[in-house]
Amino acid sequence: MKTFAGGQFAPPEAEGVCVYRNHCQPCPEGIAIGLANKYYDLARLGGAMAADHYRTLERHASDCIHCGHCNRRCPFGVNQSAHMSEIATCFGE
Ligand code: SF4
Repeated sequence: MKTFAGGQFAPPEAEGVCVYRNHCQPCPEGIAIGLANKYYDLARLGGAMAADHYRTLERHASDCIHCGHCNRRCPFGVNQSAHMSEIATCFGE
């Protein structure tokens, strides 16, 4: 179990799962990583509005330069850099 800012614990079931808390920020490309993940997850669950909401974001997963900053900061061990590629493929940007 990992700890993160504030002394809270990341529960084992959250390992590898984005919970949209933005501990990964700041992204040097200005990507709203938590929201991109949330809309991606909603789209995979069949949320009809998820793609529309995703397109309102100023920056998209396709803007990711794969610097790895978010990966190093995520207390849940999410490979966000790889996730950005999946999200960009899903939404086409
Ligand atoms: S890997 Fe991509 S999403 Fe993560 S901080 Fe770098 S540019 Fe932002």
